This record gives sequence, structure tokens and C-alpha cells, in this order.
Amino acid sequence: MKNFDYHQPTEIRFGRGRVNEVGETVARFGKRCLLVTVTSFPEIEPTYEKVKDSLRAAGVEVAHFDKVLPNPTTDIVTQGTEMAKEHNADVVLGVGGGSSMDTAKAIAVEATHEGTAWDYLFFRDTQPSEKTLPIIEVTTTSGTGSNVTQVAVITNPAEKYKSAIYNSIIYPDVSIVDPELMLTVPEHITASTGFDVFAHAFESYIHPNGSPYTDLMATESIHLVAKYLTVAVKDGSNLEARTWMAWADTLAGLCIANAGVTLPHGIGMAMSGIYPHVMHGEALAVVYPAIMRYRYRSDVKIFAELGRIFNSDLVRESNEVAAEKSCEAIDDFVKDIGMWIRLENLKIPEDELKALAEASLVLPDYKNHPRVASLEDVYELLKKSHKS
Ligand code: NAD
Repeated sequence: MKNFDYHQPTEIRFGRGRVNEVGETVARFGKRCLLVTVTSFPEIEPTYEKVKDSLRAAGVEVAHFDKVLPNPTTDIVTQGTEMAKEHNADVVLGVGGGSSMDTAKAIAVEATHEGTAWDYLFFRDTQPSEKTLPIIEVTTTSGTGSNVTQVAVITNPAEKYKSAIYNSIIYPDVSIVDPELMLTVPEHITASTGFDVFAHAFESYIHPNGSPYTDLMATESIHLVAKYLTVAVKDGSNLEARTWMAWADTLAGLCIANAGVTLPHGIGMAMSGIYPHVMHGEALAVVYPAIMRYRYRSDVKIFAELGRIFNSDLVRESNEVAAEKSCEAIDDFVKDIGMWIRLENLKIPEDELKALAEASLVLPDYKNHPRVASLEDVYELLKKSHKS
């Protein structure tokens, strides 16, 4: 067995009704809290009320920054930071999907450091320090895993570039995962965020930094997604499916924090950076069918295993056949959850694919695989993902 490290400082409070513990949880870290969310809408309002009631009951004074947008920008982080400073916040609480949770992390950095959060991206010499405010996250999607990762993804609209702070200091102190909060997630967002869970687990499984520990969690997560995502998409009120998807998301988040992601995420990050209307999960689902075919021969055993998880008939086939058929199994899965999208459906013009391919190789994620894609390879993959 190979040597490996595993690190995870975030305290996880998992289970139905656990959102009611948010007040006492936040109070352990501070008494002046900045709550970070998207603007309220009828389905999410009861969650915000529960959170605020719990905070008040615990004696926490709360200022509510509710201006987060999907694929959050540097401007949004700065607006939230101003509110954090005005409120003299000593703890930041993100409640929502990855966009709200990442904004909360970035605000915790920007409010306590010189310059802006963008000055602390993973590749810069300057990194966030111990001054970073404590971070508590309550996830309402399943999901990005952001509630258990050291990553905050933000977009700089001036540069049309999506990148990340990646530093252990922004691991949330506590992550509350309450599946009841996910009952209101609409069908398409359930599918899109659920596909992200699958992508995190699978990309961690094939990642060179994977370990026996992350492999265990990744395979369990993939099994759960295969069993429960379609159920959750078709019946959002199914609490059992929501609960297992929340656990699959948590496992996949723990995986990416210790292994990482590969080429699909490199392309996905570039895509949402240039085309912010594209949801993160959509950006992944659109390229997976082509990437499966590009890659399955590079690790026949793993792709065969994947194929058999999604299509149990493949247990009777050889690894070679099961690996090849894993491509169709993933096609069927993508179709079942209503995520069979082409780049043209996402309004991405064919004559911009070259620029998208170039942007996809800026982050180092694409190198994390035995078959490292060239610019030409990525361009071809994007062309194959463009039309039906
Ligand atoms: P999101 O946070 O952008 O939310 C998408 C939509 O879902 C929003 O309109 C929101 O209002 C709605 N929504 C959320 N919870 C809801 C609920 N309970 N009921 C009804 N509607 C609800 O989506 P996301 O996919 O969770 O996050 C995407 C962001 O996370 C991207 O910016 C992506 O790059 C980032 N990300 C971060 C990490 C990380 O480790 N930090 C990992 C993966 C992705």
C-alpha cells in the first residue's frame, strides 16, 4: 500500500434537524456574526428564519449579507466584506450552496487581510493567515462539498476568470449538514449539484493523490449517487434520498479536500468563468460523455468498476468490455437525471471553443491523470461536446 496523509479539521454535524444547532455552534466562535446567503425567495425563507432564530436564541448579533449570486464574483465578496467590517463581525456563517459558502470563506479572508480575496489565490506568494475569521457553513445543496473543503471558488469578471483560494486556514470550523434543508432544491439544481458530487468522487478516485482512505469514501459516494440521485431528482420530497445524497456529498467533499479534481473540473471552472450563466454541475455534465471516451482505456480496471456501479449487467463482462461500456452507463445516468446538455444548448458559440480550451489548461487540475490532455485534445473534446 502506498504511503499517504489525510487531514480534515472540520467538525461535521450531520443529520435531520441539526440546523437548529447553528446558534450555539456560532456562539462558540463569536457573538457578532455575518450571515452570508443568496437573496431570499419563498422556498428558502423558512431556512433563513430558523437560522436567525437559532442565532438570536444563542445571543448572537447577526448582520445578513444576502447578495450572493451563483458563481460569486470578487465584487460580491467585497460588498460582503464591507458589511462584515461595519458589523464588526467576529465570525462568518455561510448558508446555502457552494456559492454562498465560498463567498463566506472569501469574506473571512478579505475582512482580515490587506487587499482583496483575489490577492490570496492558491498560486500567489501571499496567503491567508491565522487572522482569518472563523467560518461556519450550513449547506443547502448536495452539493459542492465546500462545507468540508479548504477551497473558495470566486470569479473575477474583469478577467473573465474563475479561480480559487486554497488554504487550510479556510477549512470551515464547523459544517452543519441537515438534509431537511435540501427538500426545497428544484429538480434541475438537484441534478446539477448531484452530478458535481459524482464528479468529485470519481475524479478523486482516479487522482494520483488519492489514498486508500479517499478511495473508500469515493466509491461509497459513487454508489450512493448511482442509487439515490435519480430518486431525489424525480421526487424532491423524498427525505431518504436527500439524506443519502447529503452523505454522498459530504464524502465527496472529504475526498476532494485530500485528493482533488481532474480535467473535467479544469474545463468546468474555465467555462463558468467565461460564461457565468453556466452552473458548475452543467459545465461538468456537458463534457463528461466525451471525456469518458477519451479516458476509459487509461485505467480499464477503474472504469470497469465505475461501469458496473451504474449498470450491474456489466458484472458478467470482462474489464475491457465493462470499461468501454462505462461510457454508455454514464450517458444513461446523465440522461436519467435530465442533464444531457450540449455546449450549444448552453449558448456557447462554436467559434469560441479554442479560447475555452486554452482557458481550461490554466488551472493545474488537468494534469492530475495518467492521460494528460494537450490543448488540441481539449479542443477536440469540446467540439465533441458541442452538438448532439
Ligand atoms: P449555488 O450555490 O450557486 O446555488 C444554485 C442555486 O440553488 C441558487 O440559485 C440557490 O438559490 C439555489 N438553492 C440553494 N439551496 C437551495 C434550497 N435549499 N432550496 C431551493 N433553492 C436552493 O450552487 P452550488 O452548485 O451549490 O455551488 C456552485 C458554486 O460552488 C460554484 O461557484 C462552484 O465553482 C463552487 N464549488 C466550490 C467547491 C469548493 O470546494 N469550495 C467545490 C465545488 C464547487
